[in-house]
Amino acid sequence: MKYISTRGGMAPLEFSDTILMGLAPDGGLALPESYPQVGRKELDAWRQLSYAELAFEVIRLFATDIPEADLKDILDRTYTAKVYGSAEITPVKRLHDGLVILELSNGPTLAFKDMAMQFLGNLFEYVLAKKGEQLNIVGATSGDTGSAAEYAMRGKQNINVFMMSPDGLMSSFQRAQMYSLQDTNIHNIAIKGMFDDCQDIVKAVQNDHAFKAQYKIGTVNSINWARVVAQVVYYFKGYFNATSSNDEKVSFCVPSGNFGNVCAGHIARQMGLPIERLIVATNENDVLDEFFKTGRYTPRGTANTYVTSSPSMDISKASNFERFVFDLVGRDGSKVKALWAAVDGGKGFDLADQLAQVREQFGFVSGSSSHADRLATIRAVDAEDGVVVDTHTADGIKVAREVRQPGETIVCLETALPAKFADTIREALNREAPRPDGFDGLEALPQRVTVFEADADKVKAYIRQALA
Ligand SMILES: *Cc1c(COP(=O)(O)O)cnc(C)c1O
Repeated sequence: MKYISTRGGMAPLEFSDTILMGLAPDGGLALPESYPQVGRKELDAWRQLSYAELAFEVIRLFATDIPEADLKDILDRTYTAKVYGSAEITPVKRLHDGLVILELSNGPTLAFKDMAMQFLGNLFEYVLAKKGEQLNIVGATSGDTGSAAEYAMRGKQNINVFMMSPDGLMSSFQRAQMYSLQDTNIHNIAIKGMFDDCQDIVKAVQNDHAFKAQYKIGTVNSINWARVVAQVVYYFKGYFNATSSNDEKVSFCVPSGNFGNVCAGHIARQMGLPIERLIVATNENDVLDEFFKTGRYTPRGTANTYVTSSPSMDISKASNFERFVFDLVGRDGSKVKALWAAVDGGKGFDLADQLAQVREQFGFVSGSSSHADRLATIRAVDAEDGVVVDTHTADGIKVAREVRQPGETIVCLETALPAKFADTIREALNREAPRPDGFDGLEALPQRVTVFEADADKVKAYIRQALA
């Protein structure tokens, strides 16, 4: 299996090469030359498998340059009951109206990002050891990505993490999760500014090509192909858990910001998993909802991106969306290049004439949710089912109930646990969010963080000194 760029300008690469790469050299994203096809025979054989076994069957179709025994070992070490709290890894629960919730947040940082990031940590360590290389990850986070990356990379050989977060802006739970890590390869840097200031520093470091090469700087952002591929697995697992036979079809409802999670659903559907519809749920930042309703994609600037109570979806430029558009325009890299030239020029694009294809061929539909909807959904699910859901998952449930058709089985992806977003849970339910075992007293642990002004040179000096 070889990988090409969505903008058509990259010589085909192996899987291992794509995972250490950020953007492709032509500015596009890596995708396989074609999607492996899964038929009835595979579905019948896979239904019985454990999570790690299923992950092996799916990922080996994509990671063809990794010896199968090595891949199997990496996956057996990644998807364990010890890390995810149960042998099921991603159990499901059913609400009174038949909606199925696929639990993806039982990993170490209580958000679905652990599902892929834990794999990435073990994969990086393996690939770096093979190539005899080192990787220094420089990233920015507003909450979930940073903690998932740090818990995946802590203590790993040949990897250091320098994670910037906006000083004082994350929830106290999120701060405590990251800053209490004592591993010497993890560096927390709080920036006196907003998330965008952190992001700008990452870009400045990336664009200093001499620095980047000398210090082996890399990223773990959501465009990383290995993250997408690891997410494909739980669409298969969710399908098997929500159905009793491979004759059935299900739809998935996915809380979305960067289109990373639902992009994996699109790929599972293209591979032949019996998915009826892919339902994209946004919050007030509804750029994707607008596209799936009108065919117009007009990303907004930071000034028009709202701060909401489902903060991990406060994104108005959906990076992974480019992967879907590549398929939509018949995998024509020159078309994608022209469309994203318009995006970068601030104009966006209009594919209204392909909207029927988006719905019928690719199965997409969408909806959005507001703060009031979120509170109402959290209250309703608590009252009717005795389940406390987090704010992002609530956005998904709201949209799923809105678009559901008679007889349709919808699997709603749970993207985080409510303990991470305690303020909104308190506002909705007038009580504290439930906390899983092992997190009591988290905020009282000693914290390690270095605070800087929003100044890329200060951060570079810090990295230089840490690696000296
Ligand atoms: C990252 C995240 C999302 C959005 O996922 P995308 O892949 O960016 O669409 C939704 N909910 C939570 C809790 C997240 O951490």
